[in-house]
Amino acid sequence: MDFAFTQEEENFRHKLRAWLERTADEVFGAERAALGGSAASLLDITDDEHWRPMLEYHRRLYEAGYAALHWPKQWGGAAASLMEQAIYQDEVLRLGLPVYGANPLAIDRIGPTLMLFGSDDQRRRYLPRMLTAEEIWCQGYSEPNAGSDLASLATRATLDGDHFVVNGQKVWTSLAHRAHMQVLLVRTDPAASRHKGISYLIVDMKGPGVTVRPLKQMTGEGGFSEVFYDNVRVPRENLVGELNGGWKVAVATLMYERASGGTRHPVERAVNELIALAGDVRSGAGPGPRDSRVRQELARLAIDARCLRLNRYRALSAQVHSRAPGPESSLGKLMATELNLRVAAFARELLGPFGLLERGSHAAPEQGQWAHRILAARGLTIAAGTSEIQRNIIGERVLKLPRG
Ligand SMILES: Cc1cc2nc3c(=O)[nH]c(=O)nc-3n(C[C@H](O)[C@H](O)[C@H](O)COP(=O)(O)OP(=O)(O)OC[C@H]3O[C@@H](n4cnc5c(N)ncnc54)[C@H](O)[C@@H]3O)c2cc1C
Repeated sequence: MDFAFTQEEENFRHKLRAWLERTADEVFGAERAALGGSAASLLDITDDEHWRPMLEYHRRLYEAGYAALHWPKQWGGAAASLMEQAIYQDEVLRLGLPVYGANPLAIDRIGPTLMLFGSDDQRRRYLPRMLTAEEIWCQGYSEPNAGSDLASLATRATLDGDHFVVNGQKVWTSLAHRAHMQVLLVRTDPAASRHKGISYLIVDMKGPGVTVRPLKQMTGEGGFSEVFYDNVRVPRENLVGELNGGWKVAVATLMYERASGGTRHPVERAVNELIALAGDVRSGAGPGPRDSRVRQELARLAIDARCLRLNRYRALSAQVHSRAPGPESSLGKLMATELNLRVAAFARELLGPFGLLERGSHAAPEQGQWAHRILAARGLTIAAGTSEIQRNIIGERVLKLPRG
C-alpha cells in the first residue's frame, strides 16, 4: 500500500478535521472541557445525560454523510475509498470520538451481515434506520454457560405456525438497555450437532416477554445487561439465513466485530497522552521520564501503536472489496486490546496511587480519565472473544498449526 496522500485526500482530511472538531465541541463541549480535551468517557452511555449528546452527534454524523463511510451507496453509505476510510479513522481516533456514533454494533457488524445474508425485505426494512440511529441494535450471543464456547448456547426457539417462540437468557449484552432491535442466536434443533442446530433471528427488544436487567461494570458504568426471554414471539420472516444454518451468519458478524475491534480504540492517542503524562513529573508518584526503563517502555508502546495503525489500514482493504473479514481480523483485535491494556498498566505505574483516583476527586490526574482507562482496559480484552481465543484462532486458522 502506498501511504502518500494525494492533494484530494489531504483536502478530504482538512474538511473532515474541521467538521469533527467543530461538531465535537458543539455537541460534547462541556464534557470534553471537563476531561481536558479527551473524550475518553464519552462512551459512558449509562445515563440520559451522556446518551442524548451521543444521539445528537450521530444525527450530525449521518447528515454530513460520515455515519457509514464503508457501506455501499445502495444502502445509504458513502462507498468511500480505502484512503478516505483510513483518514476518517485516523481523525476520529485522534480526537477520541466514537467511530460509529451511537449505533456501533449496527454499523460495524450487523448491517454488513444483513447485506451478506439478509433477505431484500430485511435489508430494506432495517438498514436505513440503522444509519440514522432511529433503531439502536444489540447483539445477543453470550449466555451464562456459553461465552468462549459459544456453540453450547441453550436459548431455545421453537416454531409455532408463522412464529418462533423464544425462551432463555443472554448476558453481557452491550447497549441492550438502549436497543430497539437485537440479533439473537438461538438453538432451533437440539438434536443436531452443536453448530448445526443454531439459527440467527432479529428480535424486537421492546416486544412482550423481553426483560433487560442492566449490569454495572467496575468502571461504574452500565454499558451491558442480562436479557431474559419468556415466550417471546418472533415472526418467521425475522430469520436471517437458513433455519439451523445460523452459525455461518453468526461467524460473519463476529469477523466484522473483530475487524472493527482493531480499529475502534484510540490506542495511539492514549500512547501520546501517556508520553505527555510521563513528561510531567509533578503528576506522578512513580518513576519519571529520566528513568531509562520508562523511556524504553514508552518507545515500545509508540512503535506498537504505529504497527497497529498500519495493520488497521490493511484490514480496511478487505472491507473496501466488500468481503467479510477472515480469521486475520483476530490479529487487530488482539493487538489493539492488549496494547491498550499495557498502556493502562504503565499509566498506573507512572501515576502511582494517584492513578486510581476517579473523576470527582480533586487530586485525580486529568479528571480521573486514567483511572477510568485502567478499569476499562481488561474488559476490552474479553469482549468479542478473549485474547486466548484470538490466539487459538490465529494459531489454528491463520498459521495452520495443529489444534491444541
Ligand atoms: C465489555 C464487554 C462487552 C460485551 N458485549 C457483549 C455483547 O454485546 N454481546 C454478547 O453476546 N456478549 C458480549 N460480551 C461477552 C463476551 O463475548 C464474553 O465475555 C467472552 O466471549 C468470554 O466468555 P465468558 O465471559 O463466558 O468467559 P469464558 O468463556 O468462561 O472464559 C473464561 C476464561 O477461560 C479462557 N478460555 C475459555 N476457553 C478457552 C480455550 N479454548 N482456550 C484457552 N482459554 C480459554 C478465556 O480466555 C477466559 O480467560 C461482552 C463482554 C465484555 C467484557
